[in-house]
Order: sequence, then structure tokens, then C-alpha cells
Amino acid sequence: MHYSADYLLAECQTRQLPLSEVYRRGEAELVGLSPEALDERMLEVLEIMADSSHKGLEQPVFSLSGMTGGTAYKAWQHRRRDPLLGEFVMGAVAMALSTSEVNASMGRIVAAPTAGASGILPAALASAKHKYSLTLEELLPALYTAGAIGKIIALEATVSGADGGCQAECGTAAAMAAAGLTELLGGSPAQCFHAAGMALIHVMGLVCDPIAGFVEFPCSLRNASGLVNAFVSADLAMAGIESLVPFDQVVDAMYRVGKMMPEALRETSLGGIAASPAAKNLEKKFL
Ligand code: SF4
Repeated sequence: MHYSADYLLAECQTRQLPLSEVYRRGEAELVGLSPEALDERMLEVLEIMADSSHKGLEQPVFSLSGMTGGTAYKAWQHRRRDPLLGEFVMGAVAMALSTSEVNASMGRIVAAPTAGASGILPAALASAKHKYSLTLEELLPALYTAGAIGKIIALEATVSGADGGCQAECGTAAAMAAAGLTELLGGSPAQCFHAAGMALIHVMGLVCDPIAGFVEFPCSLRNASGLVNAFVSADLAMAGIESLVPFDQVVDAMYRVGKMMPEALRETSLGGIAASPAAKNLEKKFL
């Protein structure tokens, strides 16, 4: 049996359950916990996410290498200056940058699905919590639905930049967040998969090219844009717009694109932004 959207959609249909609940019950059984005990663990995950997505907002956080930092703080300040994105989205972008910076400072984050892409899901959940005045408990369905998406991609394709480029890391994180938000907004299981599929399509072919091999630049920027990707994808799905290609086929296409990528564009820092003269100067300075 392939762990797939087709499989989960059939389960949702047969059992008349939302995607989050099908995944929750399946994972609880898999790890030998009651669903309620699993909820407790997942609440701890949400707490870590909440901390990391806020830490860089009130004071600048810098990476261990010293190469990057302070962007979340700047973006958070900027949200009050009538940004094009509006205050809410700009604030969410700042939260995505915050977790990214906490990761680069070797702080505590949740890899969702990886450390490099760890800013997107926490920012999506934290900003939705704020916008809709939700409790952490009320975010659990979104986290479970995000987990279902991440699990499919991890099992059937890859979530590794070294394997499939940044489309597999930040693309997957955006897909997870888009599906989670869609369920939170009242979307059906099918709409959750449309949102996730569109998020992956938006960044198909995105390369992995971290300067000097540090998971900092352009990683943090891609967490910012990945968060916006998640918002766009969720809202498109909630508007009734569908991906013409089913999610499982989008995942397969993403994986194939990743396999076609030359090694220079898969986390080796030999191509893309990492190979530019400015990046090479930074590499000499900080490595
Ligand atoms: S550029 Fe590479 S290392 Fe950075 S977030 Fe993307 S996949 Fe991860």
C-alpha cells in the first residue's frame, strides 16, 4: 500500500472523518499511544514552534557563524509601516524568519520537515492562532493535517535538499502549512490536498544552494516566501480553485525534477546563489 493522498482521501470518505483525524488515529496506533496521549506530545511540539516563531521578533537573533541575523526583527518592525503585504502577512513573514534565525543560532526548533525549512509551518500556525483567536489545542488538527502531507512526501519522494533541492524542503513545508491552514479554515480533505499540491507546484524546480553550506542564506528568505506560498495556496483552495494535477502526481513530478537536478544544485554549495562571487567572498570570510 502506498501512503498517498488517494489512500487518505478514501479513508476520510469511508470513515467520514477529516484528514487530521484519520492521520491522528493512524499515527497514535503506529506509535502505540492513545490519540489523547499523542495530542499531549503534539501540544509540546506546538509550544516549541510558538517559541521559535516569536524569539526573533522583539530582539535580533544572529547565527552561530555570524553571517546572518536580525531579519525577523526588521520585518516585524516593518509590519507597522504599511507594507505591501499588509500588517498580518508581514508579521507572519517575520515569524517565519524568526524560526529560521533560531535554527541558525542553534536554538530549539521543530524540523517541519527539516531544520532548513523549519520556519514556515510555525509561522503559519502562530499567525492563524493570532488572527482567529485560537488556543494551541485548536491548532492540533492543522498540525496533524500538515503531518499527513509531510509523511506522504517523505515516504513517496524526498524532503531533503541534498536529494531533491529546496523544492523538497521549503516546498514540502509550504505544502504542509497550506494543507493545515486549509483544514483550519474549514476546507474539505480534497481541498487540503489541492492546497498542498499548489504549494509544491509554485516552487517546482527550486534549487538548494546555501552559501558556504550554512543553512542561512538563501534559506531564511525561502522560509519567508514559503510562508506566503502557503497562504496563497490555502486561500486559492478555499476559493474553490483546484490543482488540475492530483497531489500524488505532483509529489511524483517534484521527485523526478529533484532527480534531474545536477549535484551542484543539491546542497553542495557549488551552484546557484552559493556559486556567485559575493557568496564565495562570504565563504572565505565565515568558513
Ligand atoms: S536552500 Fe537548501 S539548505 Fe537552504 S532551506 Fe533550501 S533546501 Fe534547505
